[in-house]
Amino acid sequence: MDPLVAFCRHGAAELVGLEAALEALGALRDLLDAVPARVALFSADRRHRYVNRPYREFLELPAERILGRSVEDILGPELFRALKPFGDRALAGESVEAEGWFFYPGRGRRYTRRVYTPIRGSGRGFDGFVAFIEDMTVRRLAEDTLRASETLKSAAIDGALDSIIAIDADGTILEFNPAAERTFGQWRTEMIGRRFAEAVLPPDQRLAYHAELARFRTDGAHDLVGRRTEIEAVRADGRRFPVDLTLTDALIGGRRVFTAHLRDISERKRSERELAEVAYHDAVTGLANRQRLLRAISDAMAKSQPVTVVLVEIDRFANLRSTFGHGFADDLLIGLARGLSAGIEPGGLLARVDQHVFALLLLGTDDPAAVDATVEAITASVRDAVSSSGATVFLSASIGIATVTADHRRSEEILRDAEIAAGRARDSGGGCSVRFDREMYRSVIERVRSEHDLRRALASEGELWLAYQPIVEMVTGRLAGFEALARWHHVERGLIPPSGFVPIAEEAGLIVPLGRWVVARACAQLAAWQSQREPGAAPLFMSINLSPRQLEDAGCVEGVRREIFEAGIDPAWVKLEITEGALIRKPEESIATLQRLKDLGVGLSIDDFGTGYSSLSYLHRLPVDSVKIDRSFVTALNHSEENRAIVRVIVDLGRLFGYDVIAEGIETAEDCNLLRALACDYGQGYYFARPLPAEAALSLVRGDLPWQTALADDDEE
Ligand code: C2E
Ligand code: MG
Ligand code: MG
Repeated sequence: MDPLVAFCRHGAAELVGLEAALEALGALRDLLDAVPARVALFSADRRHRYVNRPYREFLELPAERILGRSVEDILGPELFRALKPFGDRALAGESVEAEGWFFYPGRGRRYTRRVYTPIRGSGRGFDGFVAFIEDMTVRRLAEDTLRASETLKSAAIDGALDSIIAIDADGTILEFNPAAERTFGQWRTEMIGRRFAEAVLPPDQRLAYHAELARFRTDGAHDLVGRRTEIEAVRADGRRFPVDLTLTDALIGGRRVFTAHLRDISERKRSERELAEVAYHDAVTGLANRQRLLRAISDAMAKSQPVTVVLVEIDRFANLRSTFGHGFADDLLIGLARGLSAGIEPGGLLARVDQHVFALLLLGTDDPAAVDATVEAITASVRDAVSSSGATVFLSASIGIATVTADHRRSEEILRDAEIAAGRARDSGGGCSVRFDREMYRSVIERVRSEHDLRRALASEGELWLAYQPIVEMVTGRLAGFEALARWHHVERGLIPPSGFVPIAEEAGLIVPLGRWVVARACAQLAAWQSQREPGAAPLFMSINLSPRQLEDAGCVEGVRREIFEAGIDPAWVKLEITEGALIRKPEESIATLQRLKDLGVGLSIDDFGTGYSSLSYLHRLPVDSVKIDRSFVTALNHSEENRAIVRVIVDLGRLFGYDVIAEGIETAEDCNLLRALACDYGQGYYFARPLPAEAALSLVRGDLPWQTALADDDEE
């Protein structure tokens, strides 16, 4: 007990009479003036008889203005009323202790602890009392603030929607708030003391957590602290759910305490998924779309599952769409989707990844036999496809197959490979399947590079040039004309034959400018040569190859007309060679274009005759004036009875329809003689000359024909 309080309580209680009490207090004056409490002595009529310095200072009055005056006088009637009961009790002989808020006029609310000690009188009653008043307002307020903030904090934790779990550095749960009780379906009392990982994490996530904890213990590093991470938590009933976890740490009483805030994000995840449903679906067929497929592939790759993608590209679908309309095409796609989905194994996924391209994802197997079976089923399903409106169409597909290997980093790469393989299948005519291999990728890369280089070549001078191969009149051995054959002198790769760049030009949409350049160049060359011919020599013709794509170009006829006009030559000197392939895709349109070319006055010839779908039914409708027998029938004529028969038929056919017949690929004197015997009109081949640069061909133009002596010798025999 405080010695002063002891004094006030006991010391004062032993005094008898007011004067003795005053004397005692007077002796203690210095001490009492120094104590942090107000001390006063009151007589039975409640007048101040002694006050210490703090008392005076509190009232801001000198002693003479206080002593002798009553409490009511000094403190006002209200405070007097509040304090009177204490005085009454003291004067009745009771030692009173009290604590509470009192309102002091001019000083506001004060919290005071008060001790009243009665002073015995010489008779039976009491002479007065000593009041000891300790002002505790500041301390009391601080306690209140603390209590308030504690209350606030626990209200926030208890009322929080997030689960809040306090854990010590060993992972033992120290606190578990009501939200956590609701979320995890566990009671706080049961959870406190358990290990965090075991209590709220599913078994497969515990290991990672423990590793984190171990890392923290050894080097103080903690990846989770201060960061938001998405993890999975587990409820008491074993149900797993996704949570956002934020971990904060603090030192409390020298102990490190972590606070885990866990927010159940199942709802958010669900709406994300629903959004994804929309974003990941193809509106026409209801199948997954490309994005979804890529995701599924990534997921499988992340789990190191075997992944095979079977890409199904419907052949000639664009034609179908333009012939039958979009509505029908969509119906057909829906029908196809239905048919293809029927064969999906569990765990597989069917997606529509492009206009008329589906992709089937096969998971968990890379067994070639299983894949082959799937491909077979797909082929059958495509062949038997029925539009959703019930119409049957005969379809085929170019199918590309790619299996994930260690080389694949991203899901796009595997889809790309399947696309490359499907492209191969398409290039070889469709209706088949091709399995991807690395070589294909390399050739695609090669192709992309070539395309780039070809653009550069077209824009520059000198990389592209024309070789000219003479065409000879078989009976006389006269030079009848040349075929212009494109050549590319690549700066790094050297000389590239047309087979190395014409297909690239066709695919890259460069064939039109390339073809235009060939026509211009060949016509200009012909113009130059005609003037260098011997006087009286018959004019030469120039054969120029047109690719099918060129023929489809709307500006084709006008382009040819213009170049011939610019070169200032007779259109009749120009012979355009087209292959039968040019007529297959759009026969009617192609025939119309040929007619318009014919109307320009140029000659038309069918190249590589006999290799395509030569159909007599349309041959006579074509406005052509010559056919060129393909090299494959011409070579080794003397060894092959069959080839001789074919050549004879073509020559007869030509005669019947009134065409000139040209034989290409004549390599030997025997071939040449046989063709002459078969009455073939013109010939071309290494036997006469290889394709030559313009300068080398000039001597031929001037009439120096090295093959003529040989022909003349043969004639004499
Ligand atoms: P093509 O029009 O049938 O040309 C004849 C091809 O046979 C040429 O090959 C020629 O060099 C080759 N050849 C000629 N005589 C013989 C011979 O006796 N034996 C052998 N083994 N081959 C012979 P090249 O120059 O490689 O051209 C290949 C094809 O490229 C041409 O076949 C033609 O379809 C196409 N082509 C060439 N130049 C152009 C062009 O400017 N535009 C277009 N669109 N295609 C072209
Ligand atoms: Mg040709
Ligand atoms: Mg040919």
